[in-house]
Amino acid sequence: MVALFGALALAAPEFVADDPGDTAVARLAWDAAVECTGWEPPHRPTVPIERGYVPGGYLGRALHDGGLSLIELSVDSERADEVIVHEVAHAWVSDGPTALAEGRAELLADCMTRRRPGLAPLQWDDGRDVLAMPRLQSWTTGHEHEPLVLGDARTDAYIGAARFVRTAAEVVDPRLLWSPEGLDWSGLETLLSAAGERGEALLALLEADVQTQRHELSDHDRDGRPAVSERLHQTDPTRWDSDGDGWWDGARPPAGAVPVALDGSPICLGVGAGDTPARARIVTGGDLRGVPLPGVRPLGDVADDGSILLDPGQPLVARWALPTNDVSGGLWVSAAGELEASSACQTTAHATVWSLDGRHSSLVAVLTEAIDEAAETAAHVWGPATGRIAVALGGKTSTVRDGVVHLSERDLDDPEAAARLAVAVHRAWTMGEPDWRAATGMAHMLAAR
Ligand SMILES: [Zn+2]
Repeated sequence: MVALFGALALAAPEFVADDPGDTAVARLAWDAAVECTGWEPPHRPTVPIERGYVPGGYLGRALHDGGLSLIELSVDSERADEVIVHEVAHAWVSDGPTALAEGRAELLADCMTRRRPGLAPLQWDDGRDVLAMPRLQSWTTGHEHEPLVLGDARTDAYIGAARFVRTAAEVVDPRLLWSPEGLDWSGLETLLSAAGERGEALLALLEADVQTQRHELSDHDRDGRPAVSERLHQTDPTRWDSDGDGWWDGARPPAGAVPVALDGSPICLGVGAGDTPARARIVTGGDLRGVPLPGVRPLGDVADDGSILLDPGQPLVARWALPTNDVSGGLWVSAAGELEASSACQTTAHATVWSLDGRHSSLVAVLTEAIDEAAETAAHVWGPATGRIAVALGGKTSTVRDGVVHLSERDLDDPEAAARLAVAVHRAWTMGEPDWRAATGMAHMLAAR
């Protein structure tokens, strides 16, 4: 009997769903959660995943009857994978105060997703100010027929609770937050008071009024760290990149990775190496919340296996298609394959510049610097720019193709004028006035400054 019981307790549930994709996600999520927590929660031998109507306007819900017994998904959820991960996490975290349980489930879901890259996006957070969040300790679910304003309160409560628990996990071992004994507010207070000064700061936030909690759990700069966490790390809660190194606050990129601006601006990742067509691959990762990892749009031919084909010396320039500004966190990219660094392709804060053929390589550095200067001037005249400028040097005529400003050989005679033209063209196109003559006029305005 003991052996049989042991065998049952160690087996993962059999997930059953109409959509085999749902089953696969749940199974991977379960294994990842076992690794994250180090233990396996009770569950029914078979756990159906049903898509249909979920009461209360929820995206999903986990039911517990002798352990995890059923996962329901809202039928039209576009975020099904992410929701399945969250509901599977509730098998470990199903008890205790609502804010604490939901925040702990989100924290565990983050761990599961990071352990299985590609499993699902990180749990959603659009970077909003949580101005409708109830005081964390008084949040309860159960308003199943609530008006819209309460729906806002609930969304803010989910996001605020997740931000609070993620911050708590910076000062307390996360495994203690997912312990089999469960966790209530006094249990958390005990853990925080044993965590030194930073624990005290979080305790004070728990005791604070709702206005303070809303302010401290808002993420004004959308770097994925709420104000309270920025204070713990002594970073600036109003700057996505407090130290100006190009990375968002709290980023933990792998070696060799490059930060991607949230506008998806183009980045040069090297040039094709060798004498024959080179193959390269691009990997994207990071802490982006609010959308799935956005697709990469490389300049270059993409082979069937997803690798990018480059001529020798051809720059690998990649851009990202970010559908919305409602995201938080950040994105990194790294490229591997037959690539080498080259002065013929450069990326700075304002521009990515490359030579279409070898003949203009020596101009790239000069022009990149001139564009940076012209872009600073343009920021004074027209305000901050949207995105980095992509500029290709060489070719017969100056034009804009696929978002890339092409500067012809003739226009390169005077690098400073060429830089002003590139900046003005980029401005004209992003301001919705795609008109080369208007851009030329704007370039003259920059020259006059
Ligand atoms: Zn939940």
